[in-house]
Parts: sequence; C-alpha cells; structure tokens
Amino acid sequence: MNTKAYFGKYGGQFVPETAMNALIELEKAYERIATTAEFRAELDDLLAHYVGRPSPLYYASRLSEHYGHDIYLKREDLNHTGAHKINNALAQALLAKKMGKKKVLAETGAGQHGVATATAAALLGLECDVYMGKCDVERQALNVYKMKLLGANVVSIEDGLGTLKEATTAAIQAWVNEIETRFYVIGSAVGPHPYPKIVRDFQSVIGREAKSQLKDRGVNPNYVIACVGGGSNAIGIFSAFLDDENVKLIGVEAGGLGADTPYHAATLTNGKDGVIHGMKTVVLQDEYGRISPVHSISAGLDYPGVGPEHAHLHDIRRVEYHAVTDDECMEALKLCTRLEGIIPAIESSHALAYLEKLCPSLKERSNIVVNVSGRGDKDMHTIMNYKKGTIYG
Ligand SMILES: *Cc1c(COP(=O)(O)O)cnc(C)c1O
Repeated sequence: MNTKAYFGKYGGQFVPETAMNALIELEKAYERIATTAEFRAELDDLLAHYVGRPSPLYYASRLSEHYGHDIYLKREDLNHTGAHKINNALAQALLAKKMGKKKVLAETGAGQHGVATATAAALLGLECDVYMGKCDVERQALNVYKMKLLGANVVSIEDGLGTLKEATTAAIQAWVNEIETRFYVIGSAVGPHPYPKIVRDFQSVIGREAKSQLKDRGVNPNYVIACVGGGSNAIGIFSAFLDDENVKLIGVEAGGLGADTPYHAATLTNGKDGVIHGMKTVVLQDEYGRISPVHSISAGLDYPGVGPEHAHLHDIRRVEYHAVTDDECMEALKLCTRLEGIIPAIESSHALAYLEKLCPSLKERSNIVVNVSGRGDKDMHTIMNYKKGTIYG
C-alpha cells in the first residue's frame, strides 16, 4: 500500500488501471515542478496581482456585538471570480502548462469550478473543456454562458440524473482517454491520490494568511469554522491550525431539509465508509452501497462524498462536523447581509449559521474565525426564489 496516498484509512487510488499512469505522472510532475521556488514565485505573483490576495481578515463588529463573541471573517468572497475556487484552479492550470499540456478538463456542478477553470485557462492560453450534467447546464445557464464567453467548451452529459456525479465520471473518462495532452483540474479536495493533497496545498494559502493576519492583530483564535462540500475551502483554512491544539476546528455540512430526512448532503453526519470518484471515504449510500441522491439549497455543498482527509479528521476527532439546514443557512445569510453589508455565498452561509449554535454555548468570550468561501452574487436567483422572495421581510 502506498501510505502517502492515505489519510488514516481513507484516500487511496480506486481507479481503473488505465488511469494509474496519469496519476503517477501527475504526482511526479507535482513534486518536480510545483514544489520549486520558481513555480511558487510565479503562482504567488498571480495570486497577488490577478486573484487579489491576500484576502482580508475582517473584524465583523456588528456580528460580534450580536453574538457577544469576537468574529473575524476570512474574505475569500473578495477574490477574482468571487470564491476560493480560483486559488486551486489557477495553480493546477499553471502546473498543467508547465507540464506541457495543451488542454485542461474540469467537472462542474453549479458551474463555479467550471468558471474558475475557464478563467485560469483564458489567462494561461490553454484550451478548456468543462463537463457538466445536462440538468445543471439548464439550471445554471448564466455560468454556462460565462464559461463560453471565456472561451471554454461546455460538454453536456446526458447520463443518469445529469448532475455533478455523472459529470465527474465523464470528465475522468475523457482525461484517461487522452492522457498525453490533457490535464484534469479537479475542483475540490477529493478524488484519487494525489489530488486531495494537491488541492489542500493550493488552498492552504487561506490558512497561512489567516494565521499571520491573526498574529499581526495579536489575536489567539479559539474556533475556526468553514463549510464542507468536498472540503477544499475547509482544509485550506484548517491546514494552518491542525497542530494548534487550542484551536477548535468546525466543519459545517449541508443539512438540507434536515439531516434526519432523506433530503440532505450531510456526509460525515450520516454517511458510511465507501468508495466514490476514486477515493475511499465516507459516502451517503443506501443499504446496498448505492450512492444516495442528495439535497442542499447550495449547489456547492450538494455532494454525496467528502474529501478523504476530512473523513480522517472526523475519525480521529480533530475536527467536529455538524449540519445546518437550508432554513438556518438562509437566516444566517440574511443576518450577515443586514449587519455587515456582506452577501455571503449560500455555501459560506452554512458556516455562518453555526455561530447561532456555537455562540450561546460558550462560557467565555471567544475569538471565532469564519471562512467566507465566496460571495452571494451567483446565488441571487435562489435567494430571490427562496420562500417566494419573503426572505427580506
Ligand atoms: C464550491 C464551493 C464550496 C464547496 O466546496 P469545498 O470544496 O467544500 O470548499 C463552498 N463555497 C463556495 C463559495 C463554493 O463555490
């Protein structure tokens, strides 16, 4: 067993033999290219001048007053393209270019990772194919248009439910078919080794910045909270604090209509060990091991698996994972908007919603960092239609 490929008992490379060569090539290229000072300098330059990093660590004074604790927001919503996804998409596309690949492939659900990858491909002069389920292509017309405007080719997948799961399977297949010329840009800390480690590395800039920003202010954090879909923004911020025993880490999953109903995506809350998209992890599945349909109001958290490192951190109890419902998340979105003038993404609002449960339970005034993974602009349509538009009442 390649122990480097595992986080405890989770991870691995559950892929057909034909994909193994591509994964081996990727791992070697990552080690040869992406760990050099030259690559890091080029990436850091793009992160600073193109993405707009460092993202601010903002002291949310009105939310702090509301909850009676000191709340800091890590503003990934202010990145170019509106979320943390660009950190990873840009870094992987840069690696692809250095490997001499001409084309990048990506899977996308709601389209956020597709837009981030299409953006990076435009910047670096790469061709880009984005695989998207047929149903998502219809639901996410605006993002489809954005990707096309950026020069990407959107491949609509008719199989199954026509959502992220089928798109991911199709993208992996297309990659394996033309491994010589293509690079698969995965969108979260998921998939077969070495992807979860590569994505963590490229998102860890969030945690490194947050830690140094806290230090500059002389603040010792007590809690760091992030939402968890596949888990890339969460592992990105958690990675800097994993060794700090006094910092409690909390991942928030999509509880949908309730984690005790069939309509949720609370994988670590309700899942069992299984295999999905090339990794051993925790999976929402039925008694026969068939992957369950999932529901969340946020497209970015609507995934029946989770990154293997989160499955491990859950196992060893280093990170606590909780679920909040669609309704709780929308209340938090409204509160943050009203008190701070910041419209967070629906995904990020899950992390904010956990404040409602955490804050009243704390005896001493605490310093709490919430990762605002993205901005809510992309969600306006969903927000407007939620409860027939009554959210502003
Ligand atoms: C995609 C997305 C997520 C979920 O992905 P992770 O890999 O779990 O971070 C969270 N927030 C936003 C804004 C997203 O676009």
